[in-house]
Amino acid sequence: MKVLGIVGLDYCGSTIVSNVLSGLPGTVNVGESHWILDRNLRCKECGKAPCPVFHGTLLDKLKSADIENDSWWEIISLGTGAELIVSSDKLPKHYDRFGVPNYLIFLYKDPRANIFSWCKRKFEYDLSDAPSIISTEHIEIGINWWVNITIQMADWLEKQKSDVSVVSLENFTINTREMVRGISSWLAMEYDPSAIDYWNRELHYIGGNHSVKRMKPNQHFYNKIAIDERWRESISPQDSERIRNSNEIWALIDRIKEFSER
Ligand SMILES: [Zn+2]
Repeated sequence: MKVLGIVGLDYCGSTIVSNVLSGLPGTVNVGESHWILDRNLRCKECGKAPCPVFHGTLLDKLKSADIENDSWWEIISLGTGAELIVSSDKLPKHYDRFGVPNYLIFLYKDPRANIFSWCKRKFEYDLSDAPSIISTEHIEIGINWWVNITIQMADWLEKQKSDVSVVSLENFTINTREMVRGISSWLAMEYDPSAIDYWNRELHYIGGNHSVKRMKPNQHFYNKIAIDERWRESISPQDSERIRNSNEIWALIDRIKEFSER
């Protein structure tokens, strides 16, 4: 059994990446599995009751597991028959709780896009009619959020013995085929190009920011993997440059990249 844990900030694109990887042969994507315990969630994506992957027996086993001693991932692997488990639990604290995956991907999105998404949600900007500019004050808070969480992730990743890989969401979006092939070979898993068109198959995972199945054709990510550039009209050019030129942000990404070369 192999476990691949995605490490990253909220809105880093882990839902898309984990859904693509779930199409590799013998792979199950658990999504944000901590929500099974923390919010009593199940698979909301397939709309089936019971979900054929995360069925009641498996969820009951997970909920009653003694996670100090039982292996969370082993229970999922035994319950689903998966050889590779992909998790988008994202935060080190969840991996410390469930067992550190043997493979870790640090996934990051263009910090301008990530900070924009976070600010929009955090400060409740309504961008449905016209793009509004996120205030500089909020962007500053967003930069601090990005830096503080990423420092925690970098400090944690530095201590792990797992194989670490760093993936840029934009790179994954532009070179999906090449990236998925590279990740498969890194994991010593068979590559299957049909994994990429994840909207063509039934998906199962816990939680997630949006539902793939119930996405509407006018939505940005409908049946495609696309770069999210909606931030461009909602951040001032000065703030955008400030993020782009932030030494602190890029030094952190460079620091994490060093862990992938160990
Ligand atoms: Zn399901």
